[in-house]
Amino acid sequence: MSWLPVQLSYEQAAHLAEQGTLVTASSRRLLLVQLYSSLQPADAEPLSVATLASAVQDLTEVEVRTVNPVTDPRAVSDFVAFVRRERHELVGLSVPQGTYDTALEIIEVLRALRSARGHPEVLLGHALPTHLPERFLGVDPDVLIIRGWGENALRAYLSGQPRHRLADVVFMERGELVRTPARPDGQPVYPPPLRVGGDYFRRVEASRGCQFGRCTFCTRPPGRADQWSATARERIAADLSALAAMGVRRFTFTDEDFQPGTGIAALVRDHGPFTYTVSMRVDTLMGRKGDRQGMTTSEAELADLYDSGLRQVYLGVETLSGSQIRRFGKRATADHSISAVRRLVRRGFDVEIGLILFDPLVTLEELAESVDLMLSSGLWRHAGAPFGKLRIQVDSPMARSRRLAPMLTTMDPNMMAYSWDYADPRVARAWQVGLDWWNGLDQVYQLIRNVVRTGRDRPDLLRVATSALLMLRASSFQVLRLAIESIRQGGSGLEADTVTSLIERRERALSAVNAAFGEGSDRVTTGRLVEEIHKVAMKDGTDGC
Ligand code: SF4
Repeated sequence: MSWLPVQLSYEQAAHLAEQGTLVTASSRRLLLVQLYSSLQPADAEPLSVATLASAVQDLTEVEVRTVNPVTDPRAVSDFVAFVRRERHELVGLSVPQGTYDTALEIIEVLRALRSARGHPEVLLGHALPTHLPERFLGVDPDVLIIRGWGENALRAYLSGQPRHRLADVVFMERGELVRTPARPDGQPVYPPPLRVGGDYFRRVEASRGCQFGRCTFCTRPPGRADQWSATARERIAADLSALAAMGVRRFTFTDEDFQPGTGIAALVRDHGPFTYTVSMRVDTLMGRKGDRQGMTTSEAELADLYDSGLRQVYLGVETLSGSQIRRFGKRATADHSISAVRRLVRRGFDVEIGLILFDPLVTLEELAESVDLMLSSGLWRHAGAPFGKLRIQVDSPMARSRRLAPMLTTMDPNMMAYSWDYADPRVARAWQVGLDWWNGLDQVYQLIRNVVRTGRDRPDLLRVATSALLMLRASSFQVLRLAIESIRQGGSGLEADTVTSLIERRERALSAVNAAFGEGSDRVTTGRLVEEIHKVAMKDGTDGC
């Protein structure tokens, strides 16, 4: 019997599939499972497992499933019954943030099944097992953890390679935790992801990694922090072609560091019509020197992107305070960020910016600097989440910082992030004022934002939702500015009449949205608003980086 090479080129795979000569390397059936929590939109496509399934389908019989206890309370028990009945020999769980308890519950059951039957073997991947392997190996020392993107390691494993020869895996051997080294750069070329059925918001991969890789709050995948690679053009073309054939007209690129200079607009246009969204770095737009690939974005490229269907751009601005930018390890200045947003808006794109105004070391002056610039530059209109608070994740440079160590408290394995305290009690007070103002608005805000992101075909609803969204954003920054002023003068936050007038304004705007979504109903409640918006909102779960 001859075996396929571990790394198969796109042409090789396509040719072999056409000839019907693919060799089955494993007789063990593989079940790949994507776990969901409230952090993952229910309509986000299970791309990780779909990508792995595609990469190994010539080696074994593979099936993809999802387990979402948020939308289906019986999801875990139904899944367990399914595995008991179907008797798969291998089960791979994709365990992103938010799914810790679900994963442990399933791993315990699979372990008991294995004791009784000798299978299934369990493979784990995604953020939580990658960064907290000991937590999972403590529950079941026989699981194999595949870190990073994983196609090569999974193929090698299915082809019978012993664990210690696989790249970038973690396992237990004789009571010791073993980590194998990552292999160098490069994106393997396999056929595009299996497109599982369902009403999913589709996701397309045009690159992996980030050319910058130096933000101090960012947890990079294993390997070099600034590794970046473009996906093979043939693979993207085949993927877009398959989506078009399925009738898909709208998708998002999953890239953390989308690069327009790769000819991607022409590819999309050739296979469309599509509309799509991307996440970009300010540096990519504003032409800072120093990226390994040296790519920047010209006006012609922006026009080309718009022409190809790009409509929404997410930008990771984080803060407009100079010293906070340096603390975050970012390179783009406040001026660059403001100019980047203005360039995109001039070209007709919807722009949403990621903000992290609150970190353990932020001072009241830094906060004031950002808030004043947000208001004076008009960037408040684009703020994704006005009260963004830093998540200090395991394995990020900030989690290892000696300066921050005294402020970090407990680590939540579900989020793989540390709780922390503010160094400056005045900032803690301003944060509390913001929280009090925002209290109860989170879900409503997210739903209105999703209507704005996706509601181009309903101009009546879009107009009302946009007006409410802008009101919430403007009020949030005004609340912060008033709180900062009051605290600077020795006060404790907002005056009672200011709070009352802000809340009245908020309620008026929400009532308008409610009336529009409730088709004339005069019942004005937040619950009703949520219910109505749910009917038209499609979550797309994309965030700027
Ligand atoms: S936050 Fe974004 S830009 Fe910064 S290192 Fe991470 S992926 Fe790159």
